[in-house]
Amino acid sequence: GESLSLMLQIFPFGENRHLLLVQDVTDLQKADAMRRDFVANVSHEMRTPITVLIGFLETMQTLDLDKSQQHQYFELMMAQSKRMKSLVEDLLTLANLEANALPAPMQEIQIPTLMALLKNDAEALSKGHHKFQFHIESSHNLMGEEREIISACGNLVSNAIRYSPDTASISATWNVNKQGEGEFSVTDTGPGISSEHLSRLTERFYRVDRSRSRDTGGTGLGLAIVKHIASRHQGQLTIESTLGKGSTFKILFPRERVVSEKSKDA
Ligand code: ADP
Repeated sequence: GESLSLMLQIFPFGENRHLLLVQDVTDLQKADAMRRDFVANVSHEMRTPITVLIGFLETMQTLDLDKSQQHQYFELMMAQSKRMKSLVEDLLTLANLEANALPAPMQEIQIPTLMALLKNDAEALSKGHHKFQFHIESSHNLMGEEREIISACGNLVSNAIRYSPDTASISATWNVNKQGEGEFSVTDTGPGISSEHLSRLTERFYRVDRSRSRDTGGTGLGLAIVKHIASRHQGQLTIESTLGKGSTFKILFPRERVVSEKSKDA
């Protein structure tokens, strides 16, 4: 069921004459419902850490805690505050991406530099547990907005780390396919995602497992941001996954954004 929303307006004119205006407002109503959902979601996401923070503050106000208990409370309050900070930052990122209808600029992004940076961040985040492989299969570079590309690719790597067990293997690959398109992909041997969830993953605040995602430190906006960044580069985010086997997230960039590496002596 898709339902149709019609707006009916009757304008009387003349004697016993009326003009009946029928408008299809389905899309308008959908946009409005989405906006309402979004505001409700943001409020809910913000309220949780704030409620927890207030709870801790009230406890500290009433109880006479010793130094080590105080320390523990401060740690927990810091974690909640950081969560609110990342949520606000992700919301701003998303708002900026949405407000900017222009295509991403054409700066040359050095793939080896990008991959080294991603590898560094990955190892710091996983604390040395996961098995990582970073492959550069083409010497071509990518034209785009460097900060956005780092953020999109980094998001896919950090999701692979956060949702896969310590023993999982994670590989990140840059390749140029036969059609000349650039491909950045991340494959993990993590839990995988069932097909009913796949198409909804890039929706803001959509999570497969609400309770689990919370303690993995995500804001629920990561893949929405990745999708926006991909489309600002005329690219596409594709997701393939098998439950119990793992997932591959790929950003496909058009040929126009792939350049051969400038020769060193040029
Ligand atoms: P979050 O902040 O919750 O990580 P994302 O938009 O980045 O938000 O991801 C949305 C949901 O997609 C996650 O909550 C998780 O359920 C699922 N997901 C993302 N990446 C993976 C992955 N590599 N393996 C399994 N599930 C994933």
